[in-house]
Amino acid sequence: MIKFKNYYEILGVTPDSSNAEIKSAYRRLARKYHPDVNPNTAEMFKDITEAYTTLINPEKRKQYNILNGFFETPKTKTTSQKAEQEYKEKTTTPPNREQNIKSSFEKKKDYSEKVFSDTINGIFKEFTKKEQKQQKQPKPEPKNGADITVDITVGIAEALKGTSRTVNVLHTELCPKCKGRKFINGAKCSDCKGTGEKSEYRKITVKIPAKIKNGSKLRLKGEGNHGQNGGKNGDLYINVKIEGNSKVKYDGLNILYNVPITPFEAVLGGDIEVKTLEGNIKLKLPKHTQSGQKFRLSGMGVTQKNKSGDIIITVHIEIPQSLSDDEIKLYEKLKKLSSHNIRENLLND
Ligand SMILES: [Zn+2]
Repeated sequence: MIKFKNYYEILGVTPDSSNAEIKSAYRRLARKYHPDVNPNTAEMFKDITEAYTTLINPEKRKQYNILNGFFETPKTKTTSQKAEQEYKEKTTTPPNREQNIKSSFEKKKDYSEKVFSDTINGIFKEFTKKEQKQQKQPKPEPKNGADITVDITVGIAEALKGTSRTVNVLHTELCPKCKGRKFINGAKCSDCKGTGEKSEYRKITVKIPAKIKNGSKLRLKGEGNHGQNGGKNGDLYINVKIEGNSKVKYDGLNILYNVPITPFEAVLGGDIEVKTLEGNIKLKLPKHTQSGQKFRLSGMGVTQKNKSGDIIITVHIEIPQSLSDDEIKLYEKLKKLSSHNIRENLLND
């Protein structure tokens, strides 16, 4: 019968320890118990090496954990995340950390520290090579994060000039407590309840480019939900709706204006000046312009992907609110002079 050995205890680490921590523990123990350093601890060093070679290999560690009931199965699925994390930790593990963890051997006995021999150095190099190879082995399926879509509405003036909006987006991120590992010291992370993810609101400022088309979709790459096991983050899509007013509207790439003209401008025609969001425009009215007549200014609308829309001006005759006595007299004179019956053909085609 094979005797059960607690490899974690032998190395003085925990089932949650990273590869970097295991390696660090092994180095520390080897410095003390390698037979070259201390001939009395050969058996002990055999166990230490056995524990190390098992725990440093993700596949062997998984097998060992399952056989000895160290983790629940979901834990082992995060091996790739761990490997990635450990890679970062290699340089950042605080040196005092290893001093806090005492191996079972150290608790029982006290051996004097000796010089780190060349032989051991050689062993470490070999292990490091093996370990790097093992970390490249196939890992759980990467899962891409989902895209998120948000609708925003902007005014027509903002849309033409360009603006920005801050949106509050609910999205999933790696759990900040367990960093997506799901478990802490063998127990489910209390923050994310073992899912490795947390949903939270995040404020994102979106720049809306000038002359954006109504119904445009802006894409913010990687701002969607968090990917798992090295999968890509989703994207954030912003649907832009442009709200017009009674004077200005958007229609695809065209900008539509409703412009009032006076009765005499309508009759006499001539140049009029129209204030638009893109500056003043001169419009040439023909004689006898009718209310509702449309004028197209080609290519002056919104430009997108080498396509340009038009400005379309619809004029309508508007009577000024206040008229002077002289103006009234002129209208009266005009009324007497006019012989035309404008409603003559009302029922005819
Ligand atoms: Zn967590």
